[in-house]
Amino acid sequence: PRQFFVGGNFKSNGTVDNIKAIVDNLNKSQLNPEVEVVISPPALYLLLTASLIRPEVKVAAQNIFDRGNGAFTGEISAQQLADAKIPWVILGHSERRSIFRESSEFIASKTKAALEAGLSVILCCGESLEEREKGITLEVVTGQLQAVANVVKDWSKIVVAYEPVWAIGTGKVATTQQAQEAHKGIREWMKKAVGEKAAEETRILYGGSVTEKNSGELAKQEDVDGFLVGGASLKPAFVDIINSAA
Ligand code: 13P
Repeated sequence: PRQFFVGGNFKSNGTVDNIKAIVDNLNKSQLNPEVEVVISPPALYLLLTASLIRPEVKVAAQNIFDRGNGAFTGEISAQQLADAKIPWVILGHSERRSIFRESSEFIASKTKAALEAGLSVILCCGESLEEREKGITLEVVTGQLQAVANVVKDWSKIVVAYEPVWAIGTGKVATTQQAQEAHKGIREWMKKAVGEKAAEETRILYGGSVTEKNSGELAKQEDVDGFLVGGASLKPAFVDIINSAA
């Protein structure tokens, strides 16, 4: 059985005061101890968050550069995250793919760099509305993941997040059937591309307009092993999403 996983992606949101308040709320809430919880504030607040959060909840960065320490103004290396004891990083988020034009190959290289530094990775993938309407969802998503499979053989420290672009920040959540179908397709692909064991053990999260109202039904789907939550992770109801695992 795969351990249920809930990530909170704060994106470029928050202030010192409101991140302290979010952390304080998580610290005083009852969280299902069987759920792995990771929160991801902007880089500026990583150490503050790590210093205040209860130890069972882990912290993730939202990006790294793949080249190590050096003359890369504005970037943070995998080694620096490891040094700061930030154990997770989100890579390949659709906002990075579209707004910052990150290619699947670049994301694969970052994933490799993160794993080599000892980090764990939340690896995001997802199709646009146009791609879904064309019926090429699985090709797009597995193509994004194949770039990583080409350079990373050991997926034991990777969690995959399926985030359809049309569902991110839109209030238009995937139906339970759409989510289950995509997750199952990803797992089938993994069997061939990475191996049976990895396919069986890798958590596949759903992301895109997850709220405390829709998380319960989504969590019941066989291949939905958790969530990557954006907007709702900034609210007290994030606790209900964490506790929505069946
Ligand atoms: P929303 O939950 O705000 O739709 O964002 C999802 C997401 O992009 C998480 O990474």
